[in-house]
Amino acid sequence: DTGLYIVATPIGNLGDITARAVEVLEQVDLIAAEDTRHSQRLLQHFAIDTRLVAYHDHSDARSQERIASVLAEGGSVALISDAGTPLISDPGYRLVREMQSRGYAVHPVPGPCAAVAALSVCGLPTDRFRFEGFLPAKPGARNGRLVELSAETATMVFYEAPHRIVDTLAAMTAAWGGDREAVLAREITKTFETIRRDSLDGLQAFVEADTNQRKGEIVLVVSGRSISESALDADTARLLRRLAEELP
Ligand code: SAM
Repeated sequence: DTGLYIVATPIGNLGDITARAVEVLEQVDLIAAEDTRHSQRLLQHFAIDTRLVAYHDHSDARSQERIASVLAEGGSVALISDAGTPLISDPGYRLVREMQSRGYAVHPVPGPCAAVAALSVCGLPTDRFRFEGFLPAKPGARNGRLVELSAETATMVFYEAPHRIVDTLAAMTAAWGGDREAVLAREITKTFETIRRDSLDGLQAFVEADTNQRKGEIVLVVSGRSISESALDADTARLLRRLAEELP
């Protein structure tokens, strides 16, 4: 089939590439990648010699036109990112929108995604979740976002840089309280994979005690506000407690 293929690639363990991903990457006329040098290693591993070009959402119009011209000739193009599913905290949104608006088919080739992998082993409710990706890097903006999220009752998923994990856990504790349950999912599918569920306080002590826990790639999954907390505002809860004390 012609069109643009959005292809998920491994998030660590190369064994996680799908059979269809390999087939599509072999068969397309062009592969657009976030970082061609990084992707070259992946393609070499699977002995794929399809032509590779760079694409970011902020690339100049030429790289988008190069992709469009392959599609215009009836060819097919695959988009990959450095790891996992393109467009999930990765480039591709503008390309997908633009190619769809020009009438080209865009096909997903699903596979690894760090957020979904973390959710699948977090042990927190997954019937409703909110993907937040990376928090703003600046503390003011980050804290503002955390305050906005304080009423969220769905499980929340964050991507975090290792050098920020200690600060982020402290900021979450300040915003939501240290008792909130959370899961640190680090180096998923890799040699030093860590999946640890604890309170925010407990996780903070854990990463502070072991510098290895501040390395590598991290997904943080945080429980939403409990329904009992969120259904009542603090004043109402206090009033109800006082009334309950008066009851015989
Ligand atoms: N598109 C990717 C996906 O589908 O998950 C995410 C790309 S984003 C630029 C990279 C972030 O994803 C990392 O900073 C980390 O938060 C998370 N991540 C990627 N691979 C991971 C892994 N193996 N273990 C834990 N987190 C990972």
